[in-house]
Amino acid sequence: MTGYIHSTESFGTVDGPGVRFVIFFQGCPMRCLYCHNPDTWEINGGEEMTAEQLLTMFEKNRVFYKHGGITCTGGEPMRQLPFLTELFRLAKMRGIHTCLDTSGICFDPENTAAADEMLAVTDLVMLDIKHIDDEVHRRLTGHSNRNILAFAEHIPERGVELWIRHVIVPGYTDGEEEQSALGYFIGGLKTLKGLDVLPYHDMGKRKYAELGIPYPLEGVKPVTADDAQTARERIMSGIKARLRAEKENGSGR
Ligand code: SF4
Repeated sequence: MTGYIHSTESFGTVDGPGVRFVIFFQGCPMRCLYCHNPDTWEINGGEEMTAEQLLTMFEKNRVFYKHGGITCTGGEPMRQLPFLTELFRLAKMRGIHTCLDTSGICFDPENTAAADEMLAVTDLVMLDIKHIDDEVHRRLTGHSNRNILAFAEHIPERGVELWIRHVIVPGYTDGEEEQSALGYFIGGLKTLKGLDVLPYHDMGKRKYAELGIPYPLEGVKPVTADDAQTARERIMSGIKARLRAEKENGSGR
C-alpha cells in the first residue's frame, strides 16, 4: 500500500510531545479560511510512498525521538485512512509513539469500524475543533462540524488520549460566548489531556499567491499572544464549568 505524502519534517517540536518525525499527508476536503497549508489541499499530488519508506526515514534519527515519536498531519491524514492505519500499525510494532493531528472531517459516525482500527494503534489524537457553532463552522471551513464533534466524543470511548487545538481567528472565533461554549463541550471529553490555543497568523499568505488563489482573510490582523492567552482562559473557564456541573449531578470523573 502507498500513501500520498506532501512532505516530512525530521525534528518537529509543536505537533505532539517530545521531538517528532512529522508526516504531512496530501489532500484535505476542508477549506479553512485561515489554512496555512493550501498546497496540501489537492488529493492528486505529493509523493507516493510506502509506510516502510517513512519508517526507514524515522529510524535514521531514532535516537532523537526517545520522548517523541511520529505525528501524521496534513492536509488531512484520515483522508487516506487505510494507509494511515497501516503506518501506525507498523510503527506500534516498532514501539513508536503515534500521534494523529486531524480535523476529524472524514469521520463517519454511522460507520466507525475503519476509524476504530486506526484508533487501536494511535496513542494520541490532536483534534482541531474549528468552531463549536455549526453555522459559523460552515462559513469558516465550508463544512458542518457535526462529524467532527461526533469524533471528539468517540475518541474517549475508544480510550485514546485527546488534545484539542483551536485557532483564534478575528471575527470568527474570538468571541467570549463561543470560547466558553467550546470549553463546556471539551470539558465533557473524558480522555482530554491538553489544550492548544493558537493565534491566527498570515504566514501562509505567500503560498496562496504562488498557487494563484485569492487570500481569504486579506486585511485580517494576526492575533497577539495576549489575545490567545485570554481566549485560553475563557475556554478553561468553560471546561471548569462543565466539570463542576458534572460533579453536581454526580456524573463527574
Ligand atoms: S483542515 Fe487543516 S489542512 Fe485542511 S483546510 Fe483546514 S487548516 Fe487547512
